[in-house]
Amino acid sequence: MDCIFCKIIAGDIPCHKVFENERVLAFLDIGPVSTGHTLLVPKKHAANLGEGSTDDAIELMKVVHQLAPAIMKATGATGYNLGMNHGVSAGQDVFHTHLHLMPRVDGLARTFVKMSPTMEELAATAEAIRREVEV
Ligand code: AMP
Ligand code: ZN
Repeated sequence: MDCIFCKIIAGDIPCHKVFENERVLAFLDIGPVSTGHTLLVPKKHAANLGEGSTDDAIELMKVVHQLAPAIMKATGATGYNLGMNHGVSAGQDVFHTHLHLMPRVDGLARTFVKMSPTMEELAATAEAIRREVEV
C-alpha cells in the first residue's frame, strides 16, 4: 500500500521516533508548529479514526496520557494542543490515522504555522523526549 506512515512503521522510511508500544508509534512531525510536535499513529493502517478499531482509538489517548508529561518536560512546555484532521474537508493530508500533540510554552505565540527545523534539531528533540520517556 502506498502509505507514507505505513512505510515509517515498517522502517522503510526513517522517522524521529519518540515512543512505541504494540499498537502505536509516536514520532516527530517534520513540519512542526512547535518544538516537540509529535504524531501518534496506530500501527494498523486505517485511513482515519472512524475506519479504525475502537481499541486503537482508545490506545491513542492512553499514549497521550503516558507520553505528554515526557514531551512537556523535554521541551519546557507547560501545555499542549491535541488535533486531528479527519477527512479532506478537515484538511487531512496523510490518510493514515494520526493525532497531533503540539506542546505549548507559556508566553510563546500559539500558532499553527509550520516551522522548518533541521534534521539535527529534530534528532536532538526526539532524543531529549526519549530520555524523559525512559526515566
Ligand atoms: P494532516 O494529514 O493534515 O494531519 O497532516 C499530516 C502531517 O504529517 C503534517 O503535519 C506533516 O508535516 C506530517 N508529515 C508528513 N510526512 C511526514 C514524515 N515523513 N515524517 C513526519 N511527519 C510527516
Ligand atoms: Zn498506512
